[in-house]
Amino acid sequence: MSTLLSVRCSPYGAETGGPKHLMGGLYGSASARTPDMHLPQNVEEGEWKCDQPAQVTVRMTCAHGHRGQRMNLCSYHDETVWSGEMVAGTIRQVKGSRRVSGHYEEIQKRQAGFCPPCGFPNSRQAGNGIDYAALQKEWEGIGKSLYELYYCGDPRAWYSGLGQDLRRRREDIGLMFDEGRSLGIIHNCPLKLVPVS
Ligand SMILES: [Zn+2]
Ligand SMILES: [Zn+2]
Ligand SMILES: [Zn+2]
Repeated sequence: MSTLLSVRCSPYGAETGGPKHLMGGLYGSASARTPDMHLPQNVEEGEWKCDQPAQVTVRMTCAHGHRGQRMNLCSYHDETVWSGEMVAGTIRQVKGSRRVSGHYEEIQKRQAGFCPPCGFPNSRQAGNGIDYAALQKEWEGIGKSLYELYYCGDPRAWYSGLGQDLRRRREDIGLMFDEGRSLGIIHNCPLKLVPVS
């Protein structure tokens, strides 16, 4: 863990255009928001910058073998600190250093753990022909449409045929997710940062 790689630390691909592959691309390149992952705000907004050289290359890996993109991260390193010391009646600045954790440690600590293919498997990953990833997107779309119907200013819109269809479909999707969860097809899976060479 102490080998310096010849590249800079680049958590979430900040140097290659931002964290667009986060969540397995589930939310597309336009949205890097990941409210469930408890990331620091600057990471969520794709503005992460780190001047440390990378020491380790890792991939987010879940217990079921799903792996994310390669990330070059810094690890423990020495940081220069200055402190004042009284010497012969005057204060002298003394240079020291202290060991601080790097992004490898920080990310591993903060990552609440949520593997996208385990939480929203597509039909191939789920193995039962149901594309939960697509259903999740549909669910979000329905939620947005219902919100618009509710706040459009015409109360009839909410009780219209379209409103009823949307609510029925949303219920169906909810039941499919409940079933997937009870069968263990859908589950929250912690992600670990696993060093790769
Ligand atoms: Zn770093
Ligand atoms: Zn997984
Ligand atoms: Zn899993």
